[in-house]
Amino acid sequence: MTYPINFVSLGPGEPELITVKGLKQLQQADIIYCPATCNKSGNTISRAADIVSALGISNDSIRNFLLPMSKDRTAAWKAYDALYAEAAANYAAGKRIIIVAEGDAGFYSSIQYIYDKFTAAGIAVQRTPGIPAFIAAGALAGLHIVKQEEQIIVIPGTPTAEELSEKISAGYVIVIMKLSQCVEAVHECIRKHPENRFHYFENVGTEKEYYTADKQIIVEKSFPYFSLMIIQ
Ligand code: SAH
Repeated sequence: MTYPINFVSLGPGEPELITVKGLKQLQQADIIYCPATCNKSGNTISRAADIVSALGISNDSIRNFLLPMSKDRTAAWKAYDALYAEAAANYAAGKRIIIVAEGDAGFYSSIQYIYDKFTAAGIAVQRTPGIPAFIAAGALAGLHIVKQEEQIIVIPGTPTAEELSEKISAGYVIVIMKLSQCVEAVHECIRKHPENRFHYFENVGTEKEYYTADKQIIVEKSFPYFSLMIIQ
């Protein structure tokens, strides 16, 4: 007997923002693979594993896998291939396996690479959806993210100031993920579009959660990896 490999979305960071379905699946799993990174002092840290632990799941089932964070993704693909091989072996041995991802597992989530690899190999997979970070951010600030006829676009932190400015002028509500990659473009657009509101969020759903719409503060602060923006 084998069980489909299950990709469970953990939600934005606050443990209770997982779905009931996702929680039940975690409780029944034999092995839960959690993405982890190595911090400057050489320690392994995993926000995902912290969320799973906080939900009362035994640490015995948690296995961290190190995901190198460099822009060159070669090392990350290697880590994914190693995880794929280990999970496939445990799947064949009849284990109930979960691979978790923060936010929603299908939304700017490179873990989908392994999902596709299992599918191609004929291994059964399933995915449990979750609350993406920008939706939790909207709740934190009490925003009506889009209303009536408004249209929304979600982009990674790749635009130049001109590209971002064009989208703002076109009237879209804009969500910028991976905000730390486009600091200059954001600064310039704050100057160019005084009529717009720029909502800045970091570490939503954690004890370091922070929100401001104060333009002066936004242009003076640095943007960590777990930050995003909603422009209205
Ligand atoms: N799958 C995730 C997105 C992963 S991409 C989701 O559904 O939300 C990583 C980017 O998501 C980060 O660079 C940041 O822009 C955003 N992000 C993820 N979690 C966040 C959080 N708790 N607070 C603020 N931004 C977050």
